[in-house]
Amino acid sequence: MQKRELLYEGKGKRLFKTDDENLLIAEFKDDLTAFNAEKKGTEQGKGALNNKISTELFALLEKEGIKTHLVKTLDDTHQLVKKVDIIPIEVVVRNIATGSLTKRLGIKDGEVLPFSLVEFYYKDDDLNDPIINDEHCLILDLVKSRSDLEELKRQGREINDILKKFFEQRGLNLVDFKVEFGVDKDDNILLSDEISPDSCRFWDIDTKQKLDKDRFRQDLGSVKVAYEEVLKRILG
Ligand code: 5GP
Repeated sequence: MQKRELLYEGKGKRLFKTDDENLLIAEFKDDLTAFNAEKKGTEQGKGALNNKISTELFALLEKEGIKTHLVKTLDDTHQLVKKVDIIPIEVVVRNIATGSLTKRLGIKDGEVLPFSLVEFYYKDDDLNDPIINDEHCLILDLVKSRSDLEELKRQGREINDILKKFFEQRGLNLVDFKVEFGVDKDDNILLSDEISPDSCRFWDIDTKQKLDKDRFRQDLGSVKVAYEEVLKRILG
C-alpha cells in the first residue's frame, strides 16, 4: 500500500491517503508537545515505540470485542487504518486523580478515585480542548444523539476495565488516559487515533516512577527509556 497525499498533520501523527478511499496510512512522529504545544521537543525512536505500543493495545482490545480503526502495522512508524470521521470529543477516563483534575477540583494528587471517572473534552486546539458535558456535545453537534454519548462512555469504561487489569498484572497503574473515536462509512463507532504513553499516564506500582509523557511535560528525563519500559511490560 502506497502513501499518497498528506491529509492531516497532528501533533504526534501524519495521516496520508492511499489508493483505497476507505484506508489511510498513519505515520507516528518523534515530536513531543505539551501544554497546548507551547512546549516542543523531539526524541528519536519515540514514534516507533508508540506505533508498537498502540498496535499491541489495539490488538488486545480487538480480542476483547472493541472495534478499532487498525488494519495492520506496515513498518516501524506506519499503520494502515480504516478511514473514519473523527468525533471531536476527547474521552478521558481516570482511575487516580492527577493532572488537570487535581488543578480544577483541588483533589489531592495521587488519590484513588472511588470509581472510574469519564470526562469529555472538546477537541479544539484554539480553545485549549475545554472540558464539556453532554449538553455541550449536543449543542455543538459533535454527535448525532444522546445514545452516541452513552456509547462513548460505555466504550471508555470497557477499555479502562481491560487495560487497567492488563497493566496491573504488569506492575503498572493505569492512572488515566485519553481516547478518540471515529465513525466509518457504515456508521460504526470505532476506537481510533492511538493508545500510548503520549495519551496515557502509567505509574510503576512499586517505585511510583512516571513512565509516560509527564516525563517530558515535567522535565523528568528521557521519554524513550520510559516508553521502552512500557513496551517491555506489555510484551511480558
Ligand atoms: P489531563 O486532563 O490531566 O491533562 O489529561 C488526562 C489524560 O488524558 C492524560 O493521560 C493525558 O495524557 C491525556 N490527554 C489529555 N489531553 C490530551 C491531548 O490533547 N493529547 C494527548 N495525547 N493526550 C491527552
